[in-house]
Amino acid sequence: MSSPESSTERTEIVKINDYEEKSTEPIIPHERQIVDAVILIWKKDPSTESLGITKLHALIKSEYPNWSVSEKRVKTLLKKFGLLSSASQEKFTYANEIKSIYTPDIELPPKVHIVLTSKRGKGLYAKTKISKGEVIFEESQLFNVPPLSKLKLIQSGKACAYCGKLLQQNSSHAGISVLKGLDCNICSELWCSQSCKRADSELHNVLKHNVFNPNARGSSNKKKQIDANAFLELQEYAEKEQWNALYAVAIVYASILNDKTGVKGKQFRAMARVSQATRYKAINSSAGSFDTFNGGALFVQEQQEVLWNEGYNKFVKVFPISAENGDMSFDEFMYMMGTYNINNLDSCIYLTQSHLNHNCNPNTSVETSLTNRVDGLKVIAAREIRSGEELTTTYVNPAHTVQQRQRELRVNWGFICGCQKCKDDLQIQQRRKSSSGASKDKASIRDMLANAKEEVGDGIDLEIPTDYNGERRKSVRFDEKVIAVSK
Ligand SMILES: [Zn+2]
Ligand SMILES: [Zn+2]
Ligand SMILES: [Zn+2]
Repeated sequence: MSSPESSTERTEIVKINDYEEKSTEPIIPHERQIVDAVILIWKKDPSTESLGITKLHALIKSEYPNWSVSEKRVKTLLKKFGLLSSASQEKFTYANEIKSIYTPDIELPPKVHIVLTSKRGKGLYAKTKISKGEVIFEESQLFNVPPLSKLKLIQSGKACAYCGKLLQQNSSHAGISVLKGLDCNICSELWCSQSCKRADSELHNVLKHNVFNPNARGSSNKKKQIDANAFLELQEYAEKEQWNALYAVAIVYASILNDKTGVKGKQFRAMARVSQATRYKAINSSAGSFDTFNGGALFVQEQQEVLWNEGYNKFVKVFPISAENGDMSFDEFMYMMGTYNINNLDSCIYLTQSHLNHNCNPNTSVETSLTNRVDGLKVIAAREIRSGEELTTTYVNPAHTVQQRQRELRVNWGFICGCQKCKDDLQIQQRRKSSSGASKDKASIRDMLANAKEEVGDGIDLEIPTDYNGERRKSVRFDEKVIAVSK
């Protein structure tokens, strides 16, 4: 496991999409162009992901006729960027760098408990038998992060400042009567309902209007714990850069400081925790990412570090006291971003839900209402769940190909999935390939699964049968050290 050399290499960013003139002059493409081209081909048609190098090379040549690139170079590059499916053992994972500790002060719903193990971290388990369709639990967000993409609408009073719901304003009725007291006294932001306003107004005032912060120590202390002007500046910057994690951690940290009980901070600190710098190594090793990162935005390491520093400087201006007494180092900031990124759901953080581990064929479905965030989310049994069974959710789109899922999971969450669906999908592909006569490294599936096993341990994902006939195989969940179990 090593980070690719490319992380320290100086490379230019070349956007494939900006490639307008299809000149006939032969060019030698940059390595990033080649890798981007391959990803683009895979994205357009996921079934091409399982093609061998020869066919893939032919596709590249047909898409970019003037490129002078050999089959060997394509292969070398795919290997270098960890994109060869047969090279799973070389792929960068960081699951073993994700740390979590037992969640303090959590009030768990009656049907579940948390098990913390040394290898798999925390997981949520059924305490009783749960029937299909049953609501296992409901919860509202621990941290609400309004959608950054709607920032301009929020600022102009066209979307709810808390949930982002679009507000229908009748222009002929422009005036206070329409607002029903759902507007801010100071700025032009509005809320869609009393519950949104109630949930948001305290943080809104602190973050956006420099309202006296009762949590700030000592009235003589002129320095604010949260500087609203600096937050507004960070918000604009985050929107311009489309950097949701920066915007989100500013809101998360402000909520933590604003929480007089101190519980929110402890709970966030106990979540599966990883530095964004670690996650970035995996992004880099796959030369771009899918879905959750809007794909394609490739940065070289140096540029990424400049950006992180810029973000950090804006962040500490919002929290001058924390910066001063060393509570918010650059490292801590990077951990906050990484932790936020692996735990958020639709940009919000839900405490109990964040304990659900991944399975490509999960036994629960999570329902959130995008139009009414105040209602929070519902976790529902997708099938019969036995007492003691781990509850799982999917972090990726189960309709994607196994290669796509595994890459997304590896890049975004640091592990190679070894669930039954992945095993089955790989086996089906392998069978298809051998019957179509395509050459393919026979050992690849075995390697991949062996590797997956190494990564997650003999975890429950690997062992839970998808059907419920017969005996459950030996429970290996407790072979590893169970660190804590909630009541
Ligand atoms: Zn709302
Ligand atoms: Zn306001
Ligand atoms: Zn899987």
